[in-house]
Amino acid sequence: MSNNSFINAQQQVESACRILNTEPAVFEILKDVERMIEVSIPVKMDDGTIRTFKGYRAAHNTSLGPAKGGIRIHPATTYDDVKALSIWMTFKCAVTGTPYGGGKGGIVADPTKLSENELEQLARGYVRGLYKYLGEKIDVPAPDVGCSAQMISWMVDEYCQLAGTQALGTFTGKPVEYGGSLGRTESTGFGISVIGRQVAKKFDIHFEEATLAVQGFGNVGSHAVKYFEQLGATVQAVMEWHPDGLFAIYREEGFTYEELEANRGKFKEMDNVKILNPEDFWSLDVDIMVPAALANAIDERVAKLVKANIVLEGANGPVTTEGDAVFKERGITVVPDILTNSGGVIVSYYEWVQNLQGFYWTEKEVLERQEEKMIQAFDEIWDTKEKHDVTFREAAYLNSIQKVADVMKLQGKLS
Ligand code: GLU
Repeated sequence: MSNNSFINAQQQVESACRILNTEPAVFEILKDVERMIEVSIPVKMDDGTIRTFKGYRAAHNTSLGPAKGGIRIHPATTYDDVKALSIWMTFKCAVTGTPYGGGKGGIVADPTKLSENELEQLARGYVRGLYKYLGEKIDVPAPDVGCSAQMISWMVDEYCQLAGTQALGTFTGKPVEYGGSLGRTESTGFGISVIGRQVAKKFDIHFEEATLAVQGFGNVGSHAVKYFEQLGATVQAVMEWHPDGLFAIYREEGFTYEELEANRGKFKEMDNVKILNPEDFWSLDVDIMVPAALANAIDERVAKLVKANIVLEGANGPVTTEGDAVFKERGITVVPDILTNSGGVIVSYYEWVQNLQGFYWTEKEVLERQEEKMIQAFDEIWDTKEKHDVTFREAAYLNSIQKVADVMKLQGKLS
């Protein structure tokens, strides 16, 4: 039950509405999505057969702006996951003052098993099925797990051809040479490091002395490692997925981003590493644990193993409701996904602004603006947490639900 992300997301919204004592209409509206579209995408496979793939796109709530959120391409993606992820996007955008509603997309496919030609058909077919519901001021997708910048490029091209107009701001996460923003690829990982440093300060931990363990070495995890290192912290362990099962590598002195990048896919062959099983990884005696892979990684059982005082949610929904309850009871601070990994959508917003203006910023401008926005959101939520004596997650929901509710009130959607 708790492994259903949609139920987890609904419970998070419900609990915040209860604490805020919002009128019933707020939860009634926010408990489900405004729109969910399901498409079937036919692909002519390289062997000549036709296979269809399921595609989804959800818009949860568009009170604060056009729907915004990535497209996840993963064999285990479900209808409910996509809805949950769109709920999280609404609050992720609201919490950082990014003027969007929540959206999310999914394609049920394993991109690592498809050829370039098959992936292109998948990307174009997804847009053909959905294009009437996409647009710079309607719904703006971006990459999520399994969706590359090349796939986004095919999608933008397909969209512009169908719409008969140049509308680069319909997608974000584009390659820099095709209307993307400098800093977008690194933005989620960079933001996680900024939030990590801020929360460490609250615990009187000098970030240069902090030890971390990171689950996942995809776009988010790897860039988080890069910036943790730049801020002087020590990444002692990294957990990765392998066809034979999950494992982690550990080294007390820590790893550099460069050596991990150079050994991508062959961590087990690295010198001077200890191989850990998942249980030993979660039980590591580090200051900060960073789940940066997929949802539901930390359930009740795993939460009981964690020794770190701080959990930084790099992924979306990595801690289940039951896992969260264990952390609350044990006094472990969970810095929620909707704040911790919001760097991606913040820089997507900057990309969109640059596209609409046709005027492009330097990487320094992008990163400085991102950092400032995230620190401001962090401080605001920390204050809410202290004021209401709630968890960090509850504070983030209180803050963002209030913002959405206030606008819905102005729009006449509430009683
Ligand atoms: N997929 C990312 C997320 O979950 C980025 C979304 C976006 O940039 O629109 O936050």
